[in-house]
Amino acid sequence: MVKLKLDASLVLFALSSSVLAVVQRSPQPQPNAQPYSPLNPRAATPYDEPIYRRDYISTSEAKPSYDYVIAGGGLAGLVLASRLTEDPKVSVLVLEAGMSGDDVKDQVNSPAGAYYQSIVGSAYDWNFTTVPQPNLANRRISQPRGRILGGSTAMNAMYLVRPSKTEMDTWQELLAGDGGDSSTASRWGWDNLYKYMKKAETFTPPADSLKSVVNITVDASLHGSNGPMQISYPAIMINITANWTAACAGAGIPEQKSPNGGTTLGGFITPSSINPSNETRSYSRPAYIDSLPPRSNLHILSESTVLKFNMQSKQDKSGNYIIESVEYAKDSSQTSNTVVKINKEFILAAGALSTPKILMYSGVGPKDTLESAGISMKVELPGVGQRLQDHMTSPIVWQTPLQTAGDIHNSGSDFSKSKEFNSFINDAVAFANASLLFDGNQTTFQQEIVASLNDTMVDKMVPSYSSEVKAGYKKIYNLIATRFFDNVAQVELLMSLISPGVVAVQAAIQHPYSIGRVYVNSTNPWDGIIIDPQFHSHWADLVMMRQGLKLVRRVGAAYGTVLGTELNPGPNMQSDDAIDAYLVNDPSNGANSQFHPAGTAAMLPKALGGVVDADMKVYGLANVRVVDGSVFPFEFAAHLASAGYGVAEQAADLIKAKSYSVTSGKATNASVASTASLSLVALVLGCLLTILGL
Ligand SMILES: Cc1cc2nc3c(=O)[nH]c(=O)nc-3n(C[C@H](O)[C@H](O)[C@H](O)COP(=O)(O)OP(=O)(O)OC[C@H]3O[C@@H](n4cnc5c(N)ncnc54)[C@H](O)[C@@H]3O)c2cc1C
Repeated sequence: MVKLKLDASLVLFALSSSVLAVVQRSPQPQPNAQPYSPLNPRAATPYDEPIYRRDYISTSEAKPSYDYVIAGGGLAGLVLASRLTEDPKVSVLVLEAGMSGDDVKDQVNSPAGAYYQSIVGSAYDWNFTTVPQPNLANRRISQPRGRILGGSTAMNAMYLVRPSKTEMDTWQELLAGDGGDSSTASRWGWDNLYKYMKKAETFTPPADSLKSVVNITVDASLHGSNGPMQISYPAIMINITANWTAACAGAGIPEQKSPNGGTTLGGFITPSSINPSNETRSYSRPAYIDSLPPRSNLHILSESTVLKFNMQSKQDKSGNYIIESVEYAKDSSQTSNTVVKINKEFILAAGALSTPKILMYSGVGPKDTLESAGISMKVELPGVGQRLQDHMTSPIVWQTPLQTAGDIHNSGSDFSKSKEFNSFINDAVAFANASLLFDGNQTTFQQEIVASLNDTMVDKMVPSYSSEVKAGYKKIYNLIATRFFDNVAQVELLMSLISPGVVAVQAAIQHPYSIGRVYVNSTNPWDGIIIDPQFHSHWADLVMMRQGLKLVRRVGAAYGTVLGTELNPGPNMQSDDAIDAYLVNDPSNGANSQFHPAGTAAMLPKALGGVVDADMKVYGLANVRVVDGSVFPFEFAAHLASAGYGVAEQAADLIKAKSYSVTSGKATNASVASTASLSLVALVLGCLLTILGL
């Protein structure tokens, strides 16, 4: 077997060119990428502006208090900051641990920069890794996360894939049962969340010249038309992409003609978060912040790590603790933390791996974790850090006689340096259900999964003492094994053309049964978070991935001579045992993360181990919300950013409608507030008229 190694600096499944140099390849054909110009070149928009400093302050300029303090200037944090400060009377401070990113703006802005000059592995990455994973030959799995304004959206691969209606409606159903609130649960069903996902975006269809080469079915009505995020397609396509949907169909995967409108199953070319007017990455910073006029009510402080929040000793009438201040610092060398006071609310938007850490160091979390870490517990909330899941992925790699994007990049030609070429990113995907994965013979597998759920298994699988967390696991497990099994994708296939001389197609499991946690084990918030996803601790996940790789081979076969020799895992690896061994043991191409951790502060009823309610408020706290990927209650068959934008957009509306005031000690409904101020105006007017004798 030719040993190909994944190069972390090239993000997803990119292959190291130095290793590939030894692979015999056919002579390179002439460039066959198809440039195109946008169908309707648009007038310059505010988003065409280059990145520039906006509302950023230094520590000395920070005020002693703000209405809202947001921990994390990533995807959700910047959406919230932008939307909340639309009201000039509201003051917001964003505390972002990472640097602004101005020094690496070219790397970030260029879509292909995600592969060829990625900030993954740099000082702009948290560079997390898991603890050794026993079911993956004790490998530590890399978990990059953006540490920069824009968070992980400044380093992600820009795929725009929404979850399905079935998944969203299931979230709503979970929120409405088990003591949840059915009146607020509907916010998180498909209809409402879809509305908010669209609110975040402006969609530009591909040009006819591109559609004539690649089969892209487009229905603009499935997308938004007036939002800050620019959603479109690369300016050019690589010809190998042209055969994607046909090859998928040849392998039995039907074409999905309406992607991102509530059904995800099938093969399609998905749009990307690219600004077509200047071929740059569209992400939370340029979309939601750089495009704003100056706003004196918005302060953004980079290089400021939130360490913990402080509560008042007394509780409000409902027994919830009130948060009065937040502590932050530049780095661990600082002898004291800066304290900022909160007038209204504190919002955690630090991402699925860091939000639970801030909760735990503030004394909110599972009793056993806090006790063994030596942290004094203020609120026992067993679900904090639990329900950690991720998509695991692994590729089949073939030689190809055709030119890949990696070949063009390596050529050093003028074209390889053009904006058009550097807008090319991978976008060919397919989502397959269990029937497809098992060729119609999935029933026995499904029955085994359902039958293996019992208390002994749950005690072993779920790293929690809490009967609530375990009840949530059981309920969601059953839904995945029954409702999602055939109606929703179990595996995503993704084609990569970014390495020279080879084509890779990944299989990524979408609904794992394995579940893990993040936790802390010290009293020092500068210590790292411990990440233990317990990958493949449930036997079905390995089987699902193996079936995924077999389906990838079927797609490869349907591609015909476009694909040459299989390099990884190699034609000799055919038996189930051999494929399993590849997935478990191969450090580069075996099972690795697709970088979609979620679920660690799940929005679920407390009786199911939830951490936040349908208002996104942390149970037991009066004025703390979580707004980021931690709140997803289970993995979606999707890439997570679109859902993340929808969640953050809706959160902004919820907060605007009703938020807590620390001074008055209660939550105020915006309409009540405006009615109150109207009554005041009427009163003053009445007095005036009386005085004037009218
Ligand atoms: C390499 C990679 C590729 C990906 N590819 C895709 C893709 O193609 N499509 C897609 O849809 N999704 C993709 N994702 C996932 C997507 O980007 C994330 O789901 C999304 O950004 C999560 O948003 P968030 O707001 O939860 O967290 P983030 O965007 O990660 O933001 C969290 C922010 O909080 C900051 N922070 C953390 N701790 C603290 C603290 N203590 N104090 C202050 N600030 C703090 C971080 O520095 C960061 O800026 C990818 C992710 C990665 C890492």
